Amino acid sequence: MTHTFDALICGGSLAGSAAGFALAKAGHSVAILDRATFPRPKLCGGLLTWKSVKLLEHLFGETPGTLTRAGAINYASNQYSIHTRTNAVAHGTLSFPFHFVDRTAFDALLLNKARQAGATIFQDTAVAHCDPARGIVTSQTGETFQGTAVIGADGANSVVRKSFSDVDTKRMRRLMAPTIEVRLPAHAFPRPVTHPELSIGFLDAGYGWVFPNNQSVIVGVCGLKTKNTNISQVFKEYLEFLKIDSEAIPDRRGHPLPYGNYLKEPVSGVTMLAGDAAGLVEPLFGEGIFFALCSGMYAGEAVAHGLAKQTSPGPEYIRRLNQQIIPELKASDHLRWAMSKGMQWIGPWSLKLFLTMAGTPLGEMVHGMRSYSWLREKHWDF
Ligand SMILES: Cc1cc2nc3c(=O)[nH]c(=O)nc-3n(C[C@H](O)[C@H](O)[C@H](O)COP(=O)(O)OP(=O)(O)OC[C@H]3O[C@@H](n4cnc5c(N)ncnc54)[C@H](O)[C@@H]3O)c2cc1C
Repeated sequence: MTHTFDALICGGSLAGSAAGFALAKAGHSVAILDRATFPRPKLCGGLLTWKSVKLLEHLFGETPGTLTRAGAINYASNQYSIHTRTNAVAHGTLSFPFHFVDRTAFDALLLNKARQAGATIFQDTAVAHCDPARGIVTSQTGETFQGTAVIGADGANSVVRKSFSDVDTKRMRRLMAPTIEVRLPAHAFPRPVTHPELSIGFLDAGYGWVFPNNQSVIVGVCGLKTKNTNISQVFKEYLEFLKIDSEAIPDRRGHPLPYGNYLKEPVSGVTMLAGDAAGLVEPLFGEGIFFALCSGMYAGEAVAHGLAKQTSPGPEYIRRLNQQIIPELKASDHLRWAMSKGMQWIGPWSLKLFLTMAGTPLGEMVHGMRSYSWLREKHWDF
């Protein structure tokens, strides 16, 4: 039996829920397929920037207040600090806070919003194959789904992406950063953590983080692999730097993070990729939540537009990506390499100088009020 819908979405996390919600709201029949059963855990620091908060309100009508009451947001802080192995190089206070979400609750809440808007959710349904030209998706159990359009929102190891013939797989692999992250009870951390802390200098292109959360602290590292990178060793060194006994950390887990391998035109036939599946993660700080939500919304709206006008959705999706998202990722990538070279050639004080000079506008850039391109004011189209 073949299940037929206007649109199929593979993956029901952030990109998938945003796409599904946008399509269902526009009155189209849409199926979201996910291999997991929600609520499910997702390895993530859960940091939300201003632009994510703005998008969540625009698309889902959710505010920090409603998300906090629903148990999805569990911490907020206006402060941040950046450290090297030897020094604190920046400590600032921003006009808008960073919010922290619990991904288990957050992802389940957004998928539920898509369901309530009219999307049909197939959980415990792993996609095994996609025919991007014909819009046919087959599950691991052999069920077949047919859609006028397909959105691949199935994360960093996307099965849908593997069905695209023109993806540079070598580049995709080279710029896929390994990560390790653990969640510790707050009392097990050697000191109180009140704001997000980033540490650099542990890897060439990457960083460590300590994020506050309700009753816990999240500690992680990510970075591009060079010949000598052993991410487990880096994580061990980072724990030692934080004065945490690495032997006492039980459940350490890893997940690939797209880190500069974004696809500029993630479209093949009637199929589009969104979020991590398209590598749409900001390459300096590894922000992916916003880019998954935003690209998912763009993909969903492009399909809705295509269905209404009887046109192919791909060009409209690429137009919005190129106008809003790709220039940010490109500029952030340039900044990442400039900062990494500065650290290598001149030392940590180059970074300190840069952070001191750029100050508040730099925080506004991370939040999305300013662009990664020359810190110009950024205007989002939502
Ligand atoms: C350790 C770590 C920390 C991070 N911290 C932050 C942070 O603090 N802030 C931030 O902005 N970003 C962070 N990110 C990035 C962020 O988590 C991702 O960019 C974001 O989750 C991408 O959303 P997505 O919907 O594209 O994919 P995902 O959230 O990865 O979801 C993919 C979905 O597809 C499903 N799926 C996968 N394969 C299949 C299949 N074959 N069939 C059906 N379903 C499938 C999965 O079950 C999953 O639900 C972090 C990432 C990592 C690894």
